[in-house]
Amino acid sequence: MSVPSSDSEFVTRSDTSVYETDEPVLYAVEAGIASLTLNRPAFNNAQNSQMTYALDAALRRAVDDDEVKVIVLRGAGKHFSAGHDIGTPGRDINKPFERAHLWWDHTNKPGGEYLYAREQEVYLGMCRRWRELPKPTIAMVQGACIAGGLMLAWVCDLIVASDDAFFQDPVVRMGIPGVEYFAHPYEMNPRIAKEFLMCGDRMPASRAYEVGMVNRVVSRDELEAVTYALAAKIATQPRMGLALTKQAINHVEDLAGKRTAMDAVFAWHHFAHVHNAINHVEDLAGKRTAMDAVFAWHHFAHVHNELLSGDKLGGYDAKAMAKANKQAAASEGESA
Ligand code: ZN
Repeated sequence: MSVPSSDSEFVTRSDTSVYETDEPVLYAVEAGIASLTLNRPAFNNAQNSQMTYALDAALRRAVDDDEVKVIVLRGAGKHFSAGHDIGTPGRDINKPFERAHLWWDHTNKPGGEYLYAREQEVYLGMCRRWRELPKPTIAMVQGACIAGGLMLAWVCDLIVASDDAFFQDPVVRMGIPGVEYFAHPYEMNPRIAKEFLMCGDRMPASRAYEVGMVNRVVSRDELEAVTYALAAKIATQPRMGLALTKQAINHVEDLAGKRTAMDAVFAWHHFAHVHNAINHVEDLAGKRTAMDAVFAWHHFAHVHNELLSGDKLGGYDAKAMAKANKQAAASEGESA
């Protein structure tokens, strides 16, 4: 059997990141409440891999610590998080890390596989893992909560926002249908979600409260006190009662399609990444439900192939397909 040509094709990418801190996430525990603080205030807590892996480790630590009943996720400085790091000196997209999931390292992979493998791990995979951790989590949000910042707030069970906070997913401007953790139509009414995405405007905290996306809106001065009072109240409840309640509600959301919808949109998201890389227009004919998802994966494969071989069909025309079929049949005949 011959190895498909793309399987032996690897790419060398250099990591040029320079970190401004060794502690992108701060960790502290007091009175049963763990505080995890995104700590890149000079870059509005832009999330590089250094930060997402540190956050994953900090959450693991908080789950393992029997003293911790509730986890508060917060951001140092003026803003909660400006999103994924797409341009600070610490942008480390080409640095390999010891991974949290079973996807292979992305850094040397060609075409669409590069971002697909990466985002399965650091974005979709980690966010789902964090959403499902068995202790209650509260996002304490001030200032900007943009794109990847939304993902961190949304995976938390509760959100407390200051009245100067705003929420925004502007990535449609990049030709991409929203961030990787596509929870928009579950976090708000679908029609509001369409407006949120199509306009890409900032949703003020007051509006986020109206649409049920956040639990409390308070002044910046009160933000910490209100968040920790809520955490302290929840911390008096029994551990398993909290874990099961969280699982129950997450399960209901998943039964309402949250998980499967996210898988489908993740494929569309990656179609957009590779489409942007190729920068040409393909017609997408709409289909429904499962077919939609597979159709998106299918097109992901087309553009991935085009990136690798310059051809949407991976270098195969009808003749070459027939020839490959005949060869495969012949070699099966030999081994049979
Ligand atoms: Zn992406």
